[in-house]
Amino acid sequence: VARNPGEPEFHQAVREVLESIGPALARHPEYAEARIIERICEPERQVIFRVPWEDDRGRIQVNRGFRVEFNSALGPYKGGLRFHPSVYLGIVKFLGFEQIFKNALTGLSIGGGKGGADFDPKGRSDREVMRFCQSFMTELYRHIGAETDVPAGDIGVGGREIGYLFGQYKRITNRYESGVLTGKGLAYGGAQVRREATGYGAVFFADEMLRQTGDSLDGKRVVVSGSGNVAIYAIEKVHQLGGRVVACSDSSGYVLDDKGIDLELLRELKEQRRARLDDYARHVPHAVAVSGRTVWEVPCELALPCATQNEIGGAEAAALVAGGCVAVVEGANMPTTPEAVRILGRAGVRFAPGKAANAGGVAVSALEMQQNASRDSWTFAESEQRLRDIMRNIHDRCWSTAEEYGLPGDYVAGANIDGFRRVAEAMLAHGLI
Ligand code: NDP
Repeated sequence: VARNPGEPEFHQAVREVLESIGPALARHPEYAEARIIERICEPERQVIFRVPWEDDRGRIQVNRGFRVEFNSALGPYKGGLRFHPSVYLGIVKFLGFEQIFKNALTGLSIGGGKGGADFDPKGRSDREVMRFCQSFMTELYRHIGAETDVPAGDIGVGGREIGYLFGQYKRITNRYESGVLTGKGLAYGGAQVRREATGYGAVFFADEMLRQTGDSLDGKRVVVSGSGNVAIYAIEKVHQLGGRVVACSDSSGYVLDDKGIDLELLRELKEQRRARLDDYARHVPHAVAVSGRTVWEVPCELALPCATQNEIGGAEAAALVAGGCVAVVEGANMPTTPEAVRILGRAGVRFAPGKAANAGGVAVSALEMQQNASRDSWTFAESEQRLRDIMRNIHDRCWSTAEEYGLPGDYVAGANIDGFRRVAEAMLAHGLI
């Protein structure tokens, strides 16, 4: 804490990992001897830079850009870019730290990193977003590369932004380096199922988790927070697997539709019109829009937080328990506070941490890198099947690692221990670097 002052989210993410890997450290004294913990908590490199750009009224704007290259023991740094006014170094470090273990869990050769800017895309025109992305990449390009560091999307960075970023990278470097960014459009080197991967993956994980105890998604009443990339495709997959999503949210409130969220309408509002969620209720007379309140007050059996960090605190967890929730599966990164995790645990609610449950996005990004490297492209069905297999493997590895350490059903311990062991072994092999 003294070494990284004023970064509470980073402290929270580190504490969560350290609290659960004790049994692995006890079994492997060589990790402590090589000071793996101290080294893993220190980013290999962090870059902070000025992003000047001009808005539509000709005024000069200045934002702050970040890229934290956290750990490359398993492969090139890999992790998304977040554009949101709340972004500062502590957020980027928490996300980068989580990313190390998440990427290790996928079993693919990718290290951990994260970046972004305190830029707010809301209310900005396409042209403004383009100018911002171009300025951002004008510094970022010198730090990234297909074999070095491969950014992707996150909050506020979707297909449009990745397109502008890729265009500027290509222009500055005079290289058509497809593998430098993932989440690209299908028209220029993107992979099938990347857009859907995080949301679909989280639901595949939920499905595996429910099956483990003889339960299923069929007929389940589900609440999803957020209405962005992860949320939209989580909703789609829940509906395909027989569940019903009755509510979703954005930063202004939530919408309740007991007949099940109309996905086509939601996609049109959010992906095309970039509208607020209360517009949904104007189109669907039986739906109710609620502003300024938490979506977690809506009773459900399965909760899929897919918006942002620390959105489920103690009060929200208590509301979920009271509403009959049996499982919480994190589509977002660290959406559940430690207090909320304890409340859910005491009530017997099954809990899947984001670093396991939302790893589908980065896993399909790694598949996108594979396809770019071999100048190949796979079909939607083949890619989805691979995603499903990867999520099943991650689930089974978390489950069996937790059992191996005498903590059956503890997905947090299973994910942290398995991810940590993989990275630690590679760091030991590389010597003191
Ligand atoms: P989007 O920007 O597409 O959507 C984010 C959604 O969450 C929006 O509905 C947004 O509402 C809402 N939201 C964001 N910040 C807040 C806030 N502070 N309070 C309330 N609502 C908020 O992002 P993604 O769907 O890509 O990301 C969602 C989560 O999933 C993040 O935690 C991200 O790190 C994680 N994740 C994403 C992956 C990906 O592949 N995209 C991969 C793995 C994890 P509004 O529009 O009103 O701001």
